[in-house]
Parts: sequence; structure tokens; C-alpha cells
Amino acid sequence: ANMATISSHIAVMTFPFSSHPSALLNLVRRLAASAPTVRFSFLSTAKSNQAIFSGQQYENIKPYDVSDGLPEGYVFAGNVHEPVEAFMKAIPGNFKAGMQEAEAEAGVKVGCLLTDAFLAFGGEMAEAMGVPWIAFWIGTAHKAEQTLKFIPGMSKIQIRDLPEGIVDHLEMPIALALRVMGLKLPEATAVVLNSYEEIDLTIINDLKTKLKKVLSVGPSTLTLSWPSKPDESGCLPWLDKHKAASVAYISFGTILVPPPSELAALAEAIEASRVPYLWSLPDHSRPHLPQGFVERTSTRGMIVSWAPQLQVLAHTSVGIHITHSGWNSVLESISYAVPMICRPFFADNMLNCRMVEDVWNIGVRVEDGILTKSGTMKAIQLLLSDDKRKELKENIRLLQESAVKAVESNGSSDKNFETLEDIIGLCR
Ligand code: UDP
Repeated sequence: ANMATISSHIAVMTFPFSSHPSALLNLVRRLAASAPTVRFSFLSTAKSNQAIFSGQQYENIKPYDVSDGLPEGYVFAGNVHEPVEAFMKAIPGNFKAGMQEAEAEAGVKVGCLLTDAFLAFGGEMAEAMGVPWIAFWIGTAHKAEQTLKFIPGMSKIQIRDLPEGIVDHLEMPIALALRVMGLKLPEATAVVLNSYEEIDLTIINDLKTKLKKVLSVGPSTLTLSWPSKPDESGCLPWLDKHKAASVAYISFGTILVPPPSELAALAEAIEASRVPYLWSLPDHSRPHLPQGFVERTSTRGMIVSWAPQLQVLAHTSVGIHITHSGWNSVLESISYAVPMICRPFFADNMLNCRMVEDVWNIGVRVEDGILTKSGTMKAIQLLLSDDKRKELKENIRLLQESAVKAVESNGSSDKNFETLEDIIGLCR
């Protein structure tokens, strides 16, 4: 959009790690398409912008790079806390600078802040600017309220399911950010969730009493067209060659690297149970697979460094999803009704896994919560057994159905999106 056609200017601020930026971009793409005269300035680190935009251009979404806070020439050596800590020290100054750049270029002042909920400074910034603050919570509804039995809908959650930083590791910068967020979110004009109300009405209704506006507008999986990244490694034609619901799809998300011993155990379980598999495994993890595993399983297995996960889960050949239970992965599994085997690792994984197994009954947690050969084999056999499979499949189909209804015209997510559009319309 050129300057003359910009009706209002929204600054979007991401938490530039794991799947946070792409989840926020999904929401922004949808809003931008419905509000062509609104300019969205998308502020994230250079690394994250490169990864999620990957050269793609949008009429009214403009990426701006903000400082990641890392020293010049920094080399990542495997400790994920380092870049997060450096980034948390660089906020909010880096975003202020980015916003000024965006305002200068657009020639229009920012009239609204849309931030990842982790960036609670957005509340103060918006207040100082006299503009609305919309917070985007990338997980499901449960995380905004971290306290158990006395929270409606949370009775099955145990303390040990909580992310690090809620009851321990309180010194981590991310822990501090989460606590500040808890205090700040009630001030937000709206809190937007990539979830849908019917997945857990008790929790949503409780949140509605605590926040000004709770808008579940997802699952984004069902509201967006396929992502633009092509199926470079040929996963889909490979899946075409397999029987319905026979293949196990394995992925642990965008950031997590399971310990070598667990990767090896998982490979052994896959081999021994003879289940066909499609494994999204970063190249640097490949050396941890057992010697000869790839060759011995080559007729029924495929390993890729990145899979088009949505299309994979939507494929009829996929029958099991082995996952770290990150929120996007769980929601995608629900969207295509693929039962899960969960090996939760960090952040919200434990909470999601607990909901999957104990509340929704649409998957199982691996024995003792870690990948061993025998425990993983048991889980695979269980999911392939007629009775359990039928039970899980029925439950996940019902959830899928309610998700589809939610995004249809006049469904709960559809109506919430309209409310969000109205709020965006008020941003001047
Ligand atoms: N994903 C993908 N291909 C892969 C691995 C992951 O498309 O090979 C996507 C997946 O569809 C999901 C996201 O990456 O949308 C992972 O998000 P999630 O919340 O599950 O985990 P996180 O990466 O935040 O730990």
C-alpha cells in the first residue's frame, strides 16, 4: 500500500524464538488480507524475519529487523537460553527503534500495538502512546492461568506439568517475563488465542472473567491456505505409496533437540515395531541414529530435515503423530484427527501432553515421559491396536469437528475474528 492509502498503522512485535513468530505472522496475514488499507509493520529479529518471510512479500505487511541483543560475531553453541537472555535485555529499546523506523517510512503514526503476550512491556508502551494493546497468546488457554485445582478446568494439571519458571527456575529472564505478563494481560484491550472455545469451555469462561476480552480465533491451521514452503523433500509422494493410517510421523518442533540417547531409543523402537515412519530430523541429529538404521529401514522409512507438517498430518497415510506436544503441533494433529504419542520436553509441552492424555483422551504420553525402546514400542503398539485406536480416533474426530465448526461462518472463532477486526478498525 502506498502512503495515501494507509488508514491506520499497527506495529506487530514478536518473541523471536521457536514457533512464536510464525504463529503471529499467521494471524497478521489473516488480518492484513481482511484490512487492506491497514499497514502492519512486523518487528522481529533479522534471523527470525528471514526464516518466516523467506523472501515472500505482502502488500500491507512490512518486516523490520530489530536488534537481537547478541554481541557482534556471536556463534550459537547450543545453549538456547543465551539468545533468549540477550534478547530480553534488548527489549523494549530495540522495538522502540524499529517502530520509529516504521513510522518514518510509512509516514503514519502507530495507532495500535499487537504483540506476543510474552512482551508485556507492550502494555506500558501502548498506554504511554494512548493506543490499544492487543496481546497474542500462542498457546492454548490454559497457560495464561497457571494454578491448578482452584482454577476451573485445570483440575487434572499437576505442578510438575508446569513450564520451568512458574514454580521453579524463577530467576530465568523468561520466568520474570511470564510473571509480568500475568499481571499485565488483564489490561490488554484484547488477548487473542490460536485456539477455539469449544476445546475447553470451562477454561475460556474463567479467563473471560479475568481479562477484558478473550478472543480464540483458531485453529489457524483451518483458516489459512497451505503455507508457501513447498514439499522440497518429496514427503507427499512418498506418503502416497503407503496404506491408510499406517505411517508414524515424528517431529519435535522447531527448536528442540532430543538427547542422543532418546533419539537412538526411538529409532530402535521404530525399527523393532516395523512401523513405516516419516521423520522430520535436523541434519545435525542424524549421527545419533543407530549405525545402519537408515539403510535397514530404507524401504519403509523416510527422514527429512523439514517436513510440510500440515500436509503430512492431513495425508490419509499418517496414523500416528509422535510429538513433543508443542501447542501448534497438538492443534494441527487435532485439525487432521491424528492421535498422538507425546514426549513433552519444555515450556507448555507438559501441560499440553496432560490435556491430550487425561482430559481429551486423544493420545498417550510415553511411559515415564521419556523415549525408551520398550516404552515407545508399547505406545506404538497401543496406538495401532484396534480398541485403543478406535477410542482415540473417535475422541479426536469429535474435537476436529468442533474445530471445523468454530472457524465456519458464525462459529465461535469466526465471530471472535470479526470482533478482532472491529478492534483493529478502531486503531487510528
Ligand atoms: N513444523 C513443520 N515442519 C517440521 C517441523 C515443524 O512444518 O518439519 C512446524 C509445525 O507444523 C508447527 C511448528 O513447526 O506449526 C512447531 O510448533 P510447535 O508449537 O509444535 O513447537 P515449537 O517449535 O514451538 O516447540
